Amino acid sequence: MSVLILGNPEEARKREQMVEFGRSLFERGLSAGSSGNLSVRLDDGWLLTPTNASLGRLDPARLAKLDWDGRLISGDLPSKESFLHRAVYQERGGAGAIVHLHSTHSAAVSCMCGLDAADCIPALTPYFVMKIGRLPLLPYYRPGDPALAGAVGRLARKHTAVLLANHGPVVSGVTLDAAVYAAEELEETAKLFLLLRGVPTSPLDAGQIDELKSAFKLELE
Ligand code: ZN
Repeated sequence: MSVLILGNPEEARKREQMVEFGRSLFERGLSAGSSGNLSVRLDDGWLLTPTNASLGRLDPARLAKLDWDGRLISGDLPSKESFLHRAVYQERGGAGAIVHLHSTHSAAVSCMCGLDAADCIPALTPYFVMKIGRLPLLPYYRPGDPALAGAVGRLARKHTAVLLANHGPVVSGVTLDAAVYAAEELEETAKLFLLLRGVPTSPLDAGQIDELKSAFKLELE
């Protein structure tokens, strides 16, 4: 029975990986309560964490499996933020996984005024440039507003990650590992950005960013 529920070995591996990364993110305080959701692309649809589920206590057999119209194939009801994930997958063919968090420092930055909406966290470290690139800030939308999907999708065409105002980041990656590590890099850089408020700083300049793009063959905006 469990073989049927968990699909082929590759799907079973991805389910276990979602549980492991979910627990890790929860235990380190990156997804309080039932906030945050993870998804991965499959050959025959995609997996998403269920609604009202703590990332700390996911069950691999109860993850929501969806088709590309958003219909539930198996598992528990999906997160109410499923439309965010679907919008990114539809616009970003290379995305194999997505991490959405309400993590403290990224969410704090998302509440600040006076940010550059096209580039809301400066390139403080090369690691931020390599994993995230230029980070756009999307204006506030109420939870569940269907207009958010279109707005996220348009930005996801060109960006690995998007920051939702008064909310948190949506980060994609080729694999779940890559998406989680990029979300963690974003959170750490948001923390640096907040620590450095009021302190004269020297982010990487355009020449240094271009050098990183060519040295590491980055396809970042
Ligand atoms: Zn959210």
